[in-house]
Amino acid sequence: MTLRVGIIGAGPSGMAQLRAFDSASQNGADIPEIMCFEKQSDWGGQWNSSWRTGLDEHGEPVHSSMYRHLWSNGPKECLEFSDYSFDEHFGRAISSFPPREVLFDYIKGRVEKSDVRKYVQFNTVARHTSYNQDTQEFTLTVENLITGVTTDHVFDKLVVSSGHFSTPTVPEFKGIGSFPGEVLHAHDFRGAERFSGKNMLLIGASYSAEDIGMQAHKMGAASITFSYRSNPMGFDWPENTVERPLITEFEGKTAHFSDGTCGEFDAVVLCTGYQHKYPFLPSDLSLTSKNVLYPGNLYKGVVWQENTNLFYLGAQDQYYTFNMFDAQAWFARDVMTGAIELPSLAQREADIQLWLERQAALADHNAEADFQSDYLRELIAATDYPPFDLHAVSQLFKDWMHHKETDILGYRDMTHQSVVTGTMATKHHTRWINAMDDSLDRYLNGPSQDVDTGTLTALTSEFSAK
Ligand code: FAD
Ligand code: NAP
Repeated sequence: MTLRVGIIGAGPSGMAQLRAFDSASQNGADIPEIMCFEKQSDWGGQWNSSWRTGLDEHGEPVHSSMYRHLWSNGPKECLEFSDYSFDEHFGRAISSFPPREVLFDYIKGRVEKSDVRKYVQFNTVARHTSYNQDTQEFTLTVENLITGVTTDHVFDKLVVSSGHFSTPTVPEFKGIGSFPGEVLHAHDFRGAERFSGKNMLLIGASYSAEDIGMQAHKMGAASITFSYRSNPMGFDWPENTVERPLITEFEGKTAHFSDGTCGEFDAVVLCTGYQHKYPFLPSDLSLTSKNVLYPGNLYKGVVWQENTNLFYLGAQDQYYTFNMFDAQAWFARDVMTGAIELPSLAQREADIQLWLERQAALADHNAEADFQSDYLRELIAATDYPPFDLHAVSQLFKDWMHHKETDILGYRDMTHQSVVTGTMATKHHTRWINAMDDSLDRYLNGPSQDVDTGTLTALTSEFSAK
């Protein structure tokens, strides 16, 4: 009987799974019966961003946490597909840190080349899963969000690729309920323009805090204060930016910090991260983890330990993204088809424990980049995913982190070399701090394109500030 594969979510991870099967079929392999369910009306996951916050047009939680003026926060050379280069997609060299729409275009380009969209049911949300031990089959209930009709589908293998940066972690702080200004989570942040002239408080000390804080600076916020729980980020911030330890309480507009200092703020952004949340899975199949590089209970970070018919893609914290999802999808595919034979439960557990011990000993961000590179190396060695120089990519991550330390507002203006094609990125026509139009058109066509008078003022200031 033909293998039946269900995929939940058509973000970059789900798209990687579709592409992995497509690639095998191009090499003559039989393609399974595939059904992919995507609750949004298009694929791309986080990259298919929305202006909406809270609930979408169907009353479902809005998935994407991305916002206007979001540019890649890592070099694109670190996430490049090894079977579909940036050169192939854009036909020329581009810069190293493109905005969201450009990366969205890139990930769509690869799957549009193949015929995999036919496997995806859009506007269809996974609601419920059960597993029959006797028949070793999953029954997945999905709902068509347009018609409201639910249907059951039976699968031999189930791939969970629904992402884990959508359900916010919202901690409580004494007095925050009486704060008279705006309080929002990073998930609902859609752009910093309205914070011009405001005193901003951002709680958290990771990528969202850093980027939303510097977005606010870019858009003219009066001051930015970060409040950290564990460690400060420690970058060489602009003059209007400070870091404070954790808040002890709010009193009206005033926030008190644990070092005895306090400040008055107009708005608070909770950049406090996200939860793994899989409401469509029973608890015994549902991953519970913090946002870490190696969640427990997944062999090779992909195969559910107690039920090897279940696969998770992209469940890790991410240095690597698109190419890691590929490596995982190729691995999952080969386990599903039997091309990779899994070791015993005990052997898998021992392997997981080795990775967890190594993770526990990671000293710094450089070691974390090496750790995830080693993880990819192992996955790629097991499949026919085109290998690429992971040592070189790890070095790119280290260079990038060094650039952030030296110039937090300027690291996105640096250029890096592709390990897939050898192409050196071009310098972008506008420095990130001055770039006020993040569209694909503007990015690719730059200052030479015709502009209407409405955008002329913005463009003039963009270039006069260069
Ligand atoms: P997602 O992109 O989250 O996609 C999951 C998909 O599953 C979505 O389409 C969703 O609609 C669907 N889905 C969820 N639940 C269901 C359900 N029940 N039924 C059906 N469908 C469902 N990475 C980078 O490389 N560079 C960056 O600059 C970068 N910036 C980021 C900025 C932000 C604010 C965030 C939150 C993440 C960023 N990332 C970045 C990381 C990003 O998460 C990955 O690039 C990538 O999008 C993860 O892909 P995914 O497919 O695993 O998950
Ligand atoms: P994250 O990396 O998981 O960080 C969560 C932060 O919240 C940590 O600093 C954590 O502190 C803090 N936190 C959690 N609970 C807290 C509490 N109760 N009190 C105080 N602080 C608390 O999440 P993220 O920063 O949202 O990043 C998620 C993903 O989005 C990443 O993949 C990132 O690359 C991506 N992203 C990219 C961009 C871009 O520019 N392209 C922008 C934003 C986000 P501890 O350290 O103490 O745990």
